[in-house]
Amino acid sequence: MHYDTLCCIISIYTVNISKRGEENIRILDYLYPSRCPVCGDIISPRQHIVCPGCVNTFQVIKEPKCLKCGKPLEQEEQEYCFDCTKINYHYNRGYALWVYDKNVRKSIANFKFHNRREYSKYYIQEILHYYKKEIITISPEVLIPVPLHKSKLKERGFNQADLLARGIGESVGIPVVEDYLMRCNKTKAQKRLNDRERAKNLYGAFEVNPSYSTAPFAKVMLVDDIYTTGSTIDACAEVLLRTGVKEIYFISLSIGKGY
Ligand SMILES: [Zn+2]
Ligand SMILES: [Zn+2]
Repeated sequence: MHYDTLCCIISIYTVNISKRGEENIRILDYLYPSRCPVCGDIISPRQHIVCPGCVNTFQVIKEPKCLKCGKPLEQEEQEYCFDCTKINYHYNRGYALWVYDKNVRKSIANFKFHNRREYSKYYIQEILHYYKKEIITISPEVLIPVPLHKSKLKERGFNQADLLARGIGESVGIPVVEDYLMRCNKTKAQKRLNDRERAKNLYGAFEVNPSYSTAPFAKVMLVDDIYTTGSTIDACAEVLLRTGVKEIYFISLSIGKGY
């Protein structure tokens, strides 16, 4: 059926039942179904952002956690994870919401690669529920989403980290600066590389937008969706320090385990 004909039929039908709001919602559900970020099924009723039965599926990171990167630790008496005792990261401190397990991995992959932008509502809500207090206490001057290379942005249509940063920023009243950092060379997918290869792959991957002369802020919070070895966040932090930023924090939707 021709697209215009379909739209015409839908609009006539919508007008006919416009007095019955419920019916309209059902049509919207049919045309643009909202999916659950956990199980991927269509959510009903539409105003929910996650199925009631899926609410506690993702593992929220609890104490003990690493004082530097926020990874969950195995033992109470540990202060830092294995990586943070070995590596001297450029950032000050970071926080993460969920353990990056197979459920979270699937959800984020659908969010990014299958354009499930509606998942961001649940992600933002949960980040704020667990970390609003910390973000307000740190009170960074700006939130900086980890940038995508512009060809990747074009292909995907949105930057997942930017979407998260905007939701967080709106709620806590902190501006988002998405054009300060730029991803300059096209890096290889990090997944198949080992730690050393990852760090090397990211060296020189970020730079500051030349339209800024000096950093107009001293304290920033980076925002990203996944923290695994920390090399992406740290490559950003290194560039920020070089341009005069003094304190760098991060918030990540998910993180690997610290053991
Ligand atoms: Zn569900
Ligand atoms: Zn750590």
